[in-house]
Amino acid sequence: MPFTAQHPEHGRLDATQPDLGCGVGWEDIHRARAPLSCAACEGRMVARKSVLGLRHFAHRRRTPDCPMAGESVGHLLLKSDLAAAGRAAGWEVLLEAAAPHGAWRADVLAVSPDGLRYALEAQLSPITEDAVRERTERYAADGVEVCWFDDRQRPRPWMAAVPSLHVTSPDGGPRTVRGVIARYSAGSGWQAVEAVALDDAVAWVLDGRLAQHEERIVYGPGEPWEACRGRFWTAPHYAAAAQEESARRHAEREAEDVRRRKAQAAKEEKAAAYERFWTRTGIGSAWWRSFEAIVRGALGRDTFFGAPSAAYGDGRPLYVKRDGGVRVVAVALPARLGEWVETTPVLVDDVPALHRVADLAFGDVEVFVASPVSESFECWWVRPGGVY
Ligand SMILES: [Zn+2]
Repeated sequence: MPFTAQHPEHGRLDATQPDLGCGVGWEDIHRARAPLSCAACEGRMVARKSVLGLRHFAHRRRTPDCPMAGESVGHLLLKSDLAAAGRAAGWEVLLEAAAPHGAWRADVLAVSPDGLRYALEAQLSPITEDAVRERTERYAADGVEVCWFDDRQRPRPWMAAVPSLHVTSPDGGPRTVRGVIARYSAGSGWQAVEAVALDDAVAWVLDGRLAQHEERIVYGPGEPWEACRGRFWTAPHYAAAAQEESARRHAEREAEDVRRRKAQAAKEEKAAAYERFWTRTGIGSAWWRSFEAIVRGALGRDTFFGAPSAAYGDGRPLYVKRDGGVRVVAVALPARLGEWVETTPVLVDDVPALHRVADLAFGDVEVFVASPVSESFECWWVRPGGVY
């Protein structure tokens, strides 16, 4: 049941327009039983009204091979609503418009004032994903955009494969969009917009205020926070904002990764420095605890040892808290001496170690011997090659 038919004098009649698109009254055609023919198969047609009063044309005889035959009332109604929405958006609308070379026949072909073409397809009969993709590509090859519409209760799987809008059925008031149209904010993420009228959605799709987008999760409009997945429609500026936010978060995660890797490397380096220190000095933990107790008994309970440090010849600096900061007051068991020995004493655990410091010395060095054996704390000076 198409909306268009060919008239011998008036040409193409469009039943969705009050003047049939060519300045003729419906009654003139309906009553007069004008000789009408089908634009697709050239079969004879008659003007008719459906039980709901919808004007259309019908083949006189069964024509199973005609692409315009066998159309359901539901299809006719959806087509009619899409045509009305296209016209309300200010686009010229052609019903059942065929490509000159026959590659496609659009249910509704909307043409913008500057010549853009957009096919609005009412797809209620079963179709495979491959077929709907292939038909979409045929439109694309001619520079025609296409959006597919379905008004059945549940969206069909093929709808995810192509630009499509799932809409409400015609009963009870104007149609609204069932599919997801979403807006974005950095704070709330993607949120589905509720109850968009079909006319608005078609107008926004036609003029590019809505574009297809794909994101992992869209929230709403159902409660509690129903999540949708897959493709949906949104304004390009929302897509851009989401992209920007996603890039920002990605950069943030990268920076956090770098921080974590650095911290991990520092931790590993510290553990390795301790390992080298214990191996080099041959000191066990009980021995170190006695040594530490003697040192802190002599130099102050507010002192504490840090990790072995390359800045102090791989020895362990002894810190004291002063004026909100820390200061190095001595260095335990360094492998090397540096300029720091001019102002910082060295800590050793026995007399042989005292002599090893003398071997390393290149000037006068103050050395404290904290001996776990004698539990004593003595102050010495060494100079290159000697203790005095
Ligand atoms: Zn036909």
